[in-house]
Amino acid sequence: MIASQPQSYHAHGSKNLTIFYHKQNLASLYNAAKTLHYKIFPLFSRQPQVCQYGQFIFSVSLQSISFIYNQAMSKIVTVKGGKSEVLRTKCSPVKKEEFGSERILSIMKDMSEALEQEKFGVAIAAPQIGEVLQLFLISAKTIAYAHGEEFDPKTHKNLFVFNPILLKHSKKTISSDEGCLSVPFKYSHSVPRFEKISMQYLDEKGQKKTINASGFLARVLQHEYDHLQGILYIDKAHEIIDVDENLKPV
Ligand SMILES: [Zn+2]
Repeated sequence: MIASQPQSYHAHGSKNLTIFYHKQNLASLYNAAKTLHYKIFPLFSRQPQVCQYGQFIFSVSLQSISFIYNQAMSKIVTVKGGKSEVLRTKCSPVKKEEFGSERILSIMKDMSEALEQEKFGVAIAAPQIGEVLQLFLISAKTIAYAHGEEFDPKTHKNLFVFNPILLKHSKKTISSDEGCLSVPFKYSHSVPRFEKISMQYLDEKGQKKTINASGFLARVLQHEYDHLQGILYIDKAHEIIDVDENLKPV
């Protein structure tokens, strides 16, 4: 899931665009642009010119270009990219004997790395990197934010949730903001979620745990839980808007 909070982003301008005319970067940019439905017309002038959905945007900032470049390098499966069917697949539980295995540890590492690259990313589910496993990850920063604490890497750790079961939920629902790493350039201010939930899960050692959550953390848990059922927030949102890479409405 992505959210404009808690990790707000401040854009910094940059004048150096020539680096992206390097042949190798350009090839990656072309591939990324194709996936993201951008068209790039380099070498036309000193600055790259990008066409998004038929609309010309001139003097594209370095952030936009590096965003496209990062998308090209990213392992995240999107609804418009290849392998998108994994986002609509019901995931399988992780087997008892698989906990701590090299394969699972490597998937956990890939998920952490993919999430770290995303400035608005708060959590990620295994199918978002192409693994149809009942596993998701909530970032340490999000955990700190949800508890109203300042992030400290010594005390706040990434939370890995295996084979979750939604035990209980409040009757009351709340509509609020949500976006998804797998649905780029879209955002919603009105996704209904249960206000409070109780979720049972296994930790990375296979130990049974229960988490009781409300508000923002309950929302994140429900968004990620849905991913494991092949459900996306766009199935539940009352209204979806188009946004740029900084989640600003376009
Ligand atoms: Zn998502």
